[in-house]
Amino acid sequence: MSRLVMKFGGTSVADLERIRNVASHVQREVEAGNQVAVVVSAMAGTTDQLVRWTREAAALHDAREYDSVVSAGEQITSGLLAITLQGMGIAARSWLGWQIPVRTDDVHGSARIEGIDVEDLKRRMDDGQVAVVAGFQGIAPDNRITTLGRGGSDTSAVALAAALAARCDIYTDVDGVYTTDPRIVTKARKLARISYEEMLEMASLGAKVLQTRSVEMAMINRVPLQVRSSFDPPGGPFDPQDHGFGPGTLVCGEEDIVEQQVVSGIAYSKDEAKVTLVRVEDKPGVAARIFGPLSENAINVDMIVQNVSEDGETTDLTFTVTHDDLSRAMDVIRDAGSEIGYQDLVGSTDVVKVSVIGIGMRSHAGVAAKMFQVLADKGINIQAITTSEIKISILIDAAYTELAVRALHTAYDLDSE
Ligand code: ADP
Ligand code: ASP
Ligand code: MG
Repeated sequence: MSRLVMKFGGTSVADLERIRNVASHVQREVEAGNQVAVVVSAMAGTTDQLVRWTREAAALHDAREYDSVVSAGEQITSGLLAITLQGMGIAARSWLGWQIPVRTDDVHGSARIEGIDVEDLKRRMDDGQVAVVAGFQGIAPDNRITTLGRGGSDTSAVALAAALAARCDIYTDVDGVYTTDPRIVTKARKLARISYEEMLEMASLGAKVLQTRSVEMAMINRVPLQVRSSFDPPGGPFDPQDHGFGPGTLVCGEEDIVEQQVVSGIAYSKDEAKVTLVRVEDKPGVAARIFGPLSENAINVDMIVQNVSEDGETTDLTFTVTHDDLSRAMDVIRDAGSEIGYQDLVGSTDVVKVSVIGIGMRSHAGVAAKMFQVLADKGINIQAITTSEIKISILIDAAYTELAVRALHTAYDLDSE
């Protein structure tokens, strides 16, 4: 008998009919002889609404109370799924984060899981009870509720699978991981397999199909992760005998991938904001005076470009941060203005980061050259560049997002036939 964690995202539990659909997926796995734990998200849109309410209540609010409010959506869906399963004659019990408990650190709003005590859960599962777990939430050392960051139910599921030594199926509204977001590129192709490393880059560079931390956790604990659709009818394309590795995308070790492409996927992130310091003095120590205060204020800087100065005296310096951090970053720079010395400070959010990702880049030259050529051919100006061993990211005008992603998708031979 194998243990299985099944995770269902917001669109998959958006109403009672969809919750019944989820229950029939669970029933299929139970009848196939699996011990099942189910992790659920809140109904689609619920968490957004809860976040809006906390902001409307007070722009600057206590992070502990934020977590208490925004974790509420998962309590509803876990209870409703348990009721639905019971109605079908399947033994089931709902579990909130603190009831298991899922222990986290105290970074409210984006807490990290430190450990899950699964003994009780295991006993119940051994007795044939389905555990329905509220995703996205845990409990801090001081017993307050925490949440794991947006999209965090994926991480709840993987952490639970690691603790239970189970495999993990992530059911969502697309039937796998695609070469790029299938909602903007119709020619996107479903990948049968993708390595943990590439998936980690895809997720952190904007492909929200899996939360970045969930991939990190799956990679470290070697949890076999399968991304699949909750909308295929049970008994349809799924084969209960085939332990889930058929229809979706398997996220696995590099060694388990037979055919490795040079570029596996393209991601984009609109969550980039650009800050430009115009005519900064071009002398030693200036960068430290800019980035020191930003880091002291826990503002993560992503891309940095410094132009060569024409006159040897001043230069423009541009860096990017997340949208949420933009106004704080501008304030920090303004405060340090007299020490830094610049003529003007400009912030904007009309930029997007587009990235090409592939393990094959380690051994193939020319990937970056092709990227730059494709963008040049489309007349798209590159504002910043960063690279790592397996990815190249560029910053461009947001208006060109779809054009750039589509053109690159074609250029790297990723289009489906
Ligand atoms: P859930 O609510 O199930 O967690 P999400 O909305 O968080 O679902 O993630 C699924 C979405 O991720 C898809 O609807 C799709 O638009 C988006 N997505 C972005 N990039 C990719 C990709 N490369 N492959 C598949 N889906 C992607
Ligand atoms: N409901 C939470 C969110 O919307 C967690 C999740 O869906 O994974 O971010
Ligand atoms: Mg999600």
